[in-house]
Amino acid sequence: MKQNLKKIALIAAIAVVIASCSKKNETLTPEAPLAKNGDRVLQHIKNLGFPASSIIEGGNEYIVEEDIIFPKNMVVPASFTGANTEQYYTGSIVNSTNKLNIRVFVDPSMTSMSSEINNAIAQWNGVSGSTLRLNIVTAAPYDILIKDENLGNGVCGQGQFPSNGQAGALIKINKAYIAGNSFAQRARTICHEFGHCISFRHTNWAAQGESTATNVPGVPGTDASSLMNGGQCGSGATVLSQKDKDATASLY
Ligand SMILES: [Zn+2]
Repeated sequence: MKQNLKKIALIAAIAVVIASCSKKNETLTPEAPLAKNGDRVLQHIKNLGFPASSIIEGGNEYIVEEDIIFPKNMVVPASFTGANTEQYYTGSIVNSTNKLNIRVFVDPSMTSMSSEINNAIAQWNGVSGSTLRLNIVTAAPYDILIKDENLGNGVCGQGQFPSNGQAGALIKINKAYIAGNSFAQRARTICHEFGHCISFRHTNWAAQGESTATNVPGVPGTDASSLMNGGQCGSGATVLSQKDKDATASLY
């Protein structure tokens, strides 16, 4: 069993490397298995409760509800039960070891927003009762890559959900698009995407017409002050609300 877990961890580690290096992907991963795994990832997304209409095919990944990324080469949790429904998360969290030191690598394309990134990290690290810590590293290995990408009009950023006990591995920020926002709003976008990487769904999923999310135990209901409300880029809460903090302490 332990050996199996080790294997799974190794596969996950390889998947992360592949995900962050698309050119090597072609040589290391034959196309058919990737396509097959893509089918499994698609089923996994549907099992999480996202309707097919919210899933967009995007080359090497699926984009769900505009700002959540599922890489096609991700490791699909074998025993994940998507039926459990609780602020709101995916039901899959960063494990108790990994949460203590989630390593964040800032791509050179995002270093101009280092202050905003540091603000976002300080918010998550400052939650009382949580031992989750995000730490900037300047070289591999790392757990989350944050990079600039043109996501078109209307999408400020995208984050990836955790899988296999590891934080979501990628955050894309539409840097040019949010450049005109205030410092606090730019930091909010980044803070929000980190929230997805540690499993948070949109607190206002129901109002947004999104698929049913799992309630964080002990932190039910809606929250107008939540930084994890979706569809509020440039206008939403810029600091974690009390319920955001309660939810973080509950999970981590
Ligand atoms: Zn979001």
